[in-house]
Amino acid sequence: MSKIPTQPAKGDTVLFCDHADKVKDWHWWYVRSLAFGRPNGTIGVAQWILACPKCFLASGGKALKVPVAGDTVWDGGKPLIFEKKS
Ligand SMILES: [Zn+2]
Repeated sequence: MSKIPTQPAKGDTVLFCDHADKVKDWHWWYVRSLAFGRPNGTIGVAQWILACPKCFLASGGKALKVPVAGDTVWDGGKPLIFEKKS
């Protein structure tokens, strides 16, 4: 049996809320393999859902109630999935 990971690994697909690029202290849930549909009709499978503190509170701590704004592929050890604004 594999251990449940505590944070995304490189290549994992992450769903995120609309404010995830504005905060540094995210909440995330491991969802193993959650199928989802994108607005353009394509289907993806996510391993993680990530939320800002506001959406975390609004969802009552329930991952599937987080308003998802998009998905991305985690790109490595750094806890940053968005370009930094300089
Ligand atoms: Zn949010």
